[in-house]
Order: sequence, then structure tokens, then C-alpha cells
Amino acid sequence: MKSFNIPEFYRSPIISRIKMIRKIKDPKKQDFSPTVLDFGPVVIYIARHFGFCFGVENAVEISFRALEENPGKRIFLLSQMIHNPEVNNDLVSRGVQFLMEPNGKEIYPLEKLEKDDIVIIPAFGTTLEIENRLSELGIKSQQYNTTCPFVERVWNKSGQLGAKDYTIVVHGKPSHEETKATFSHAKQYGTVIVLKDMEEAKLLGEYMLGQLDREKFDELFKGRTSENFNPEKQLDRIGVINQTTMLASETQAISDYLKKILKEKFGENEIKNHFADTRDTLCYATNENQEATFGLLKIPADLALVVGGYNSSNTTHIAELCAQKLPTYFIKDESEIISASTTRHFDLETEKIVETSNWMSTKKPMHIILTSGASCPDSVVDRVLYKIVGMFENCLDVENVIRAEEKRQ
Ligand code: SF4
Repeated sequence: MKSFNIPEFYRSPIISRIKMIRKIKDPKKQDFSPTVLDFGPVVIYIARHFGFCFGVENAVEISFRALEENPGKRIFLLSQMIHNPEVNNDLVSRGVQFLMEPNGKEIYPLEKLEKDDIVIIPAFGTTLEIENRLSELGIKSQQYNTTCPFVERVWNKSGQLGAKDYTIVVHGKPSHEETKATFSHAKQYGTVIVLKDMEEAKLLGEYMLGQLDREKFDELFKGRTSENFNPEKQLDRIGVINQTTMLASETQAISDYLKKILKEKFGENEIKNHFADTRDTLCYATNENQEATFGLLKIPADLALVVGGYNSSNTTHIAELCAQKLPTYFIKDESEIISASTTRHFDLETEKIVETSNWMSTKKPMHIILTSGASCPDSVVDRVLYKIVGMFENCLDVENVIRAEEKRQ
């Protein structure tokens, strides 16, 4: 896979080295077991895969290139380039301005842009409507377009489904930039509907079987269907695609469920005419990171630390998987670890930042799982690791532990 020129400060002396050790030992990425760093009073289990993915490195490289190539010009990012506060703040500190919040609200009116301004399209891509507005303003938005090729692959898939007259069902978070972009691009190929989870898939299934009235359908999917969507006819032939960072198991369950509904409606023999058997459109990084999380969860650890931006979809899913098995703290960086007795973290249930006391037990040794999302720099995970190790007395030296691991591998 292509390697990118990203600023050295996002790399790290510990995590990047561990990744390299694992890469040499397992180039085909067959082994999802974690790396074990035994410091004595604390043992840290590092996931086999996490951190900057292809799309994020590509976006970081292009954004820094845009800064280098355009001194003196105004440089805007359409919205957060990726969902990581450290990376976005870095760009802002270098003079980059945001045009929109992640929810689409304008921070700087697009109409005030001038044709010499530089606008960077984020890794999630953007809608055709915004692309057109930028081009009407004379902005060359393709010059620094960081849309991830794995997102574009989903758009291509929607084109294939639309060409065969399937309604495109998008499994994604309706307010996420990537899903909004996919919805917009898919609409040019055919009819589209966006659903966010299994609960909504079940309501859709009820509607398909005539068990839910039209009013409820309209209320539920308002703003999430293509224009003139006719659910009576256009849900009889469907294909599922998804936001690249959803939970693989949920997309599979939704696909299986909708297929079952269509079998019930049209019979087993007719299913080929009504349901497109597609593989999910998750990206490689989501798959690898989720597989690595399952590898981590085989360890009977005491707690998990998941590091990443609180609006990062892929990081949220990793935290959800961990939380099903053990106490999990979703933190944006090391500053959230206030002390051995208190940590601040994002609570998945309430979707709020909360403080938890007595989050670490006094058990010795403590077994801690450590991983991050696809948009988190390795350097942040390094700092979390150092902070944890620093909280225990009589820990072995980090360098010696890494060397021991190098020898063991
Ligand atoms: S998570 Fe996947 S789709 Fe998103 S930027 Fe990374 S590689 Fe691309």
C-alpha cells in the first residue's frame, strides 16, 4: 500500500516501532492477537491494528501540501478534515479555517469565498450540491480533494446498484459527513434511503410487509430518501451499501434481515429479483481495526482505553465493542486521565463527557487494553501509554520493555 509523507510529530517512538515489529513478523496481517507490554505492575495490551489509515494519511499529506504550496493565500477546510481534535487543531494553528461544522452549519459563508481561496475537501468527501456551489464560486475544489478512495468505492457501488434498478439502502449515520456525501452521490444513480441502525431496519421491514402506515414511514425517514421516493414500489428491489466505518456485524444483520423480509414477501425462489447480494462496503481499516478489537477482547483484561475524537464513528464502534465486555474509557488524549482515581471520558450511553472516580482498581498487576481509532495519531497513544505507566510505581523502563518485545517477536 502507498506510503505517505505525514509530519513526523504524528508518528511516535513507541507505537510506530511496535507496529513495525508486527508488520515484519506478520506482513500478511493474519495475526490479530495484541502486542503485550509487561511493565511489571501494569501489563498493556496493544491492538494489532489501529491508528492512521490510508485515507487519513492521504488527507493529512494533501492538507499539509496545500499549506506549503499556497503561502499567503486563504486556506479553508470544508469541515473537520478527519474526526480528531489534535489534527484539526494543528491545521487551525497553521492558519487553516473551517467553513462548516460537522453538522453542516456554516461557520464562514460560502458566498464570501473568493476564487483564489483554497478549499480542502475532507476525507469523508462532500455532497454534489456543495461541490457545485464551490465550482460556481470559481473555487478549484478538486485541487486539494482528500476524499478517501474507499469512500469513492462506495459511491461506485451505488452506481452499480442504481444501474440495475435497485433502490440503494445506505446503512450510515444520517448526520455524518460521509453518509451525507454518499446519499448525495448515490441519488444521481437511483432511488436512495438512509437508515441508521437495526431498529430502523426493523421499522422499514414492518413497512415493507404492510405493518406500518405511510405516515409513520414519512415521519421516520423524512429528509433521508431521494426526491419522489415511492416506498410502495421502490422497496421491492433493494441493495445495501454502508458508511465505511459502521460495525460490520450490524451491517450484516441489517442486510440479512431485509433479505428475509423480501423472501417473506416474494418467496425464496424470487429473491434474486428483489435483493442484490452485495458484500458490505466497509473499508479495510474498519475491518482490520474491528478484527483487532476482537483479538484484544480475548484477553481477560481489567479495563480498556480507547483513544480518539468523540465524533469519530470508527472509534465509537471500537469503544462499543470493548464496552460489551469490560469497563471501557473512551478518551480523546492523555489529558483526560486526570489521576489514578479520576478520568474524564466520553460516555457512549449519554453521549456526554463525564468524570468517573475509582476507574482503576488497586489490583496488581493491572491488565489494560489500549487501542485507538483510524484518525488518531500514534503520538497521542504514546502519550497515553506513558501517562498510564507513570501512574504505577516500580515499572520497568519503557525502552527495555519494547526491546524485550522486539526480541520475543
Ligand atoms: S476509515 Fe476507511 S474510508 Fe475512512 S478515511 Fe480511513 S481508509 Fe478511508
